[in-house]
Amino acid sequence: MTAAPKVGVLALQGDVREHLRALESSGAAATTVRRQEELDAVDALIVPGGESTTIGKLAAAFDLLEPLRMRIKAGMPAFGSCAGMIMLADRIEGGVEGQQTLGGIDMVVRRNAFGRQVDSFEADLDFAGRGALRAVFIRAPWVESVGAGVDVLGRTEPGDRIVAVRQGPLLATSFHPELTGDSRVHSYFVEMVREL
Ligand code: GLN
Repeated sequence: MTAAPKVGVLALQGDVREHLRALESSGAAATTVRRQEELDAVDALIVPGGESTTIGKLAAAFDLLEPLRMRIKAGMPAFGSCAGMIMLADRIEGGVEGQQTLGGIDMVVRRNAFGRQVDSFEADLDFAGRGALRAVFIRAPWVESVGAGVDVLGRTEPGDRIVAVRQGPLLATSFHPELTGDSRVHSYFVEMVREL
């Protein structure tokens, strides 16, 4: 792929603008996605941080759940941060009754895992062997367990919690790389999109 890949940000709820900016500075053509025609027009998608129960409800209300699930099944690259990680998990712990997700990554993700006392915090961690990265966690999930096909790209230190994973064209982080002005995670994702 020589032209800038067209990467959508699911814009139902959450920190959409920050992802658009990080994508643009990573060499992608960024655009919002709220309707199926917009989804059909993108090469890849980011599911932003926000509130996973709300994103799930709005995706259902906008008739996007099935189209999103189908694109993911068909191999569209997708990146989920925080609530977006929850949306991309095959199984979640601590979800609400009837919570809708998209699935795709063979992992169990625990919502609000870091607990109330440490609701939000920042930490340095190594992402995908690319050196230390400042990671911002806001009522973040962690990954309880992953299937054999999932690569772990980042863990907290201390604690050794899995907070970044990749399975084929799907990437997910517990933290918010869109909030730090460091676009290395977005660049990693855009590289993934270019390779596929
Ligand atoms: N706790 C939120 C949820 O369950 C995620 C928080 C976030 O995206 N910053 O969806």
